[in-house]
Amino acid sequence: MKYRPWQKPVIERGIKALLDGRVYAINSPTGSGKTFMSLSIAFRMKLLARAKRVIAVTRTRNQMLSYERDMRKFFPGRTYVALISKADACPYAQKGADTEDINCELCSRRANPDLARAQIMSHGIFKAIDMMRDMREVCPYYSLRKLMERVDLVILTYPYLFSPITRKAVEGILPGAVVIVDEAHNLDNVGELFERRLSPQKIDYAIRQAKRLLQGTYILRPLVAVLEKIKSRLVDILSTGDPERQRYLPKDKLWELAAPQEIATIFDAAKMIRNIMSNIRQFGVNWVGSIAKFFESIDDEHLEAFYTTEEVVLKLVDPEPFLRILGKLDYVILQSGTLPPKEYMEKVWGITKPIEYVDVDKEYGPVFPEENKKFIVAEDVNTRYNNRNGELWDKYACYLEAIYRSAEANVLAVAPSYKIVSELAKRLRHLPLIVEERKTRLDQVQEKIRGGGRHLILAVAQGKLSEGIEFTDPATGKSLLSDIVLVGIPYPMPDDYHKMRGQRIMARITSTTLTEFDITMHIPAVITVKQALGRAIRSREDKARFWLLDHRYLRRNWLEDLNILRYEKITLSRVRCTH
Ligand code: SF4
Repeated sequence: MKYRPWQKPVIERGIKALLDGRVYAINSPTGSGKTFMSLSIAFRMKLLARAKRVIAVTRTRNQMLSYERDMRKFFPGRTYVALISKADACPYAQKGADTEDINCELCSRRANPDLARAQIMSHGIFKAIDMMRDMREVCPYYSLRKLMERVDLVILTYPYLFSPITRKAVEGILPGAVVIVDEAHNLDNVGELFERRLSPQKIDYAIRQAKRLLQGTYILRPLVAVLEKIKSRLVDILSTGDPERQRYLPKDKLWELAAPQEIATIFDAAKMIRNIMSNIRQFGVNWVGSIAKFFESIDDEHLEAFYTTEEVVLKLVDPEPFLRILGKLDYVILQSGTLPPKEYMEKVWGITKPIEYVDVDKEYGPVFPEENKKFIVAEDVNTRYNNRNGELWDKYACYLEAIYRSAEANVLAVAPSYKIVSELAKRLRHLPLIVEERKTRLDQVQEKIRGGGRHLILAVAQGKLSEGIEFTDPATGKSLLSDIVLVGIPYPMPDDYHKMRGQRIMARITSTTLTEFDITMHIPAVITVKQALGRAIRSREDKARFWLLDHRYLRRNWLEDLNILRYEKITLSRVRCTH
């Protein structure tokens, strides 16, 4: 096969790095063949008898498909398996079920790894799982699990590596493996895997479920009483919250929601519901169980409580304890189009092994022709918090309308928050908009975009539409976006969570050139911006205009971090809109 210019050196350097005991970090744009390069390194390590097996860890189920695609295209004949969660694989589990609620003791289905391998090789991962679900005697989950020992590549989702509880299912295959962590910039948000939430709405669901399933049992009345008490106290707490900023909540306040014996009632009821689901073999969402888990997690030393007007969340403040596993693995490759700087990975993520860091675009590129990218920076707007008002949204709406009218294809505009997206949507109703909401489904947006026409997509930074989504023509692989717009700088909301995160990390690390602002604000914002910009150019033929609508992008650190060599400046006086 024909290698692209950077691929051979990146592969050779990776093999040497792993042999020398280093973590290999590949920072390379989407479309440069990262997955192929990582798999080539890993299989060469296996060939050299230095590694026992290859494991790829992806954030989403969809990302598993890019490994499947590359395995079939570049490594035909090699076998692979993808292990999805028990809740996703079990034919008796409904959407939203929790793996821990699935009791297999009474189940007569059995593992059939040979069948799983044959089905995957003929039909692909997800079709194979669907087909096994329909076979009454086969358990898809245990078939996939047993197959892990016998294939060339095992593809897992993040929890299998980073959650100590879920990791137990794969612990046996980790020693001696080359582990490829896909889209590794997401390691910053690994804490999302451990979040536990409590909201009045969830309590209502739990009460309804209890009344349905525990009717006529001794526990129903005390359970409903304690849930109603918790709800009323929770509503009081949330009434002092802020809709957008997460406020810190001392854990004592959570223990005041109910007495220990009342919490024990919730645990008993959760167990009863689990048993009922097991007896009828229908594993749905155990709402009471989810409240029990919330209380169970309060004592976790790594989690802190924060609240808005909607809910209380127990979340990880410092990702390092859960990333320690990376230091214990024999061979690690971290890959992404937007990796943070090496020092950030060492200090914030706490990677203790030496890191070999390759920036493919800078060292061997450019991967895509520079002349295909045009940067335009606005000199007269910014989204600083004290500047945010109706007049500012009018200006941004004017810019967006003008950009949309001059665009050749779809325009993706990324704003820092849902609130700003909604302000812009109100002002741009006359255009064919796709507006991101919390419940927006990716497949529906992709279908709309691929269905033709030109749209203005209003997306939220770090939301579903600005990361990990392909706006490409499936037949040609070419981008369907001609313009990307950054509405301001997507700094994370300066709230108690980010403040505490910065303080904890700074207290842990020693001798760094990074400031607290770098750690909590600047570097996460750079990654978010690069992710958004990366949506437009997916092949050498793609061309795009990148609109950075905030004068702070003219600062040297931003220009350097985004690798912008040439740009134009613009002001509203040069823009025409009907708005
Ligand atoms: S099919 Fe049966 S054995 Fe398999 S995960 Fe579901 S309940 Fe468990």
